Amino acid sequence: MSSMSSEVLGVESRIAFIGLGHMGGPMAANLVAAGYPVTGFDVVPAALDAAAAAGVEVAESAAAAARGADVIITMLPAGKHVFAAFEGDGPGGGLLAAAKPGALFLECSTISVEDARAAHQMVVASGHRGLDAPVSGGVVGAEAGTLTFMVGGSEEDFASGAAIFEVMGKRIVHCGGPGAGQAAKVCNNMILGVSMIAVSEAFVLGEKLGLTHQALYDVAANASGQCWSLTTNCPVPGPVPTSPANREYQPGFAGALMAKDLGLAVEALNATGVDAVMGRTAEEIYREFALGGGAGTDFSGIINTIRHASHRTD
Ligand code: NAD
Repeated sequence: MSSMSSEVLGVESRIAFIGLGHMGGPMAANLVAAGYPVTGFDVVPAALDAAAAAGVEVAESAAAAARGADVIITMLPAGKHVFAAFEGDGPGGGLLAAAKPGALFLECSTISVEDARAAHQMVVASGHRGLDAPVSGGVVGAEAGTLTFMVGGSEEDFASGAAIFEVMGKRIVHCGGPGAGQAAKVCNNMILGVSMIAVSEAFVLGEKLGLTHQALYDVAANASGQCWSLTTNCPVPGPVPTSPANREYQPGFAGALMAKDLGLAVEALNATGVDAVMGRTAEEIYREFALGGGAGTDFSGIINTIRHASHRTD
């Protein structure tokens, strides 16, 4: 097992891919296209059919997919699904017991730092190795193989899994020990949520003050207000033609996912006692946005909520 831990896993490695949804489906397809033998499982039959069409060998259960695999990738909705897949009963569970000793778990779902650390403990206690490796880049990045992976775990395990991440991603960052990948993701997305609200408030204020969108953009994009929420995902149509605002706020990055990620940020803020007024406020704003019809629209659609609230006369 000690020789296994330093082994760099390449194209001969057998991969089990659990969770073949919006992200997992195309990620698994890219591994197949790169020549890896991939066996997949999802609890939803339609996801399995789509994966089979992309060349994934379909298993009858998560445990059956994991048996004999060198690498087990999970891409599931939330922490409770990860725990169920690791230890639960039924067709979607039992990964830890089924995997061979020393197998490398790449846990790519976005879950809380606390859950990631607990999941890592479970993996190690079962005689396996594990990295937390959440991604950014969305479905477009998953399809194109250009995701960013934020990875937590040991140097050896990171080196072992690097070639596999490189098939699915463009930027692979080793952030530190177990949970560090999720920590980096939650901090980044807290910046993103806050900055999108700030940019949107500034555009609505500019409207009230008689500024054109283009004028504010031309100044702020080249001044100290510059940020991704302004220059890539600009919440008004016009200045950045590829931003979701130009296609009626079709995502992009959906409001539901921003609300989810800010919920994880608040969990981390509570666990650490950090005084973060902006992060907590952003979480409230996006929770309401998602509940009020914004779940399926791009998160930059928050500008319409701000604009609407600003027309009140009371
Ligand atoms: P999704 O709901 O489309 O896919 C998750 C899949 O997991 C579903 O097909 C579901 O049936 C399956 N599943 C659940 N429990 C299972 C089990 N026990 N065994 C097998 N399959 C199981 O979600 P998604 O959009 O692919 O996102 C996956 C993760 O990636 C989430 O944590 C999300 O926050 C994160 N993420 C998503 C995006 C995005 O743009 N969609 C971007 C970055 C990160």
